Amino acid sequence: MSTATLTAIRPCSRWDPRMWETGNEGNADAIEMCDWCPFKDNCRTENPYPRGVIVAGVAHDDYGNLVTGKARKPEPEPVSARPVSLAEPYRDEILRRHRDGQTWGQIAVVIGLPLSTVRSYGRRLLAQAVAA
Ligand code: SF4
Repeated sequence: MSTATLTAIRPCSRWDPRMWETGNEGNADAIEMCDWCPFKDNCRTENPYPRGVIVAGVAHDDYGNLVTGKARKPEPEPVSARPVSLAEPYRDEILRRHRDGQTWGQIAVVIGLPLSTVRSYGRRLLAQAVAA
């Protein structure tokens, strides 16, 4: 596989790169995607002095210091009465992949939707299944 292809399939190349800027509201999603990124180990060595960004799931401030806790945001509560989600057409695939043990982040990459969309929709489906 070419270097260009490998770069293109990195989550931080496929999604909005601002999510990897420390302090961005997408930091929690970025960290979750880094957690299962197959390039995580290489990423650490490729970026020895990160500043103001998340690298390999670790947030750094503008001086390169580690940021602990601040980059993660609380998980939203599932809301049952939201409008129809962009993930609706993928309902069966999302449920099947979740049952197979895939994370919301992995599923989001496979179906090509933002992690937050897939995660909130998936959690709503699970909450509805429990309530039924
Ligand atoms: S581990 Fe590195 S290459 Fe992978 S998504 Fe995170 S920052 Fe990008």
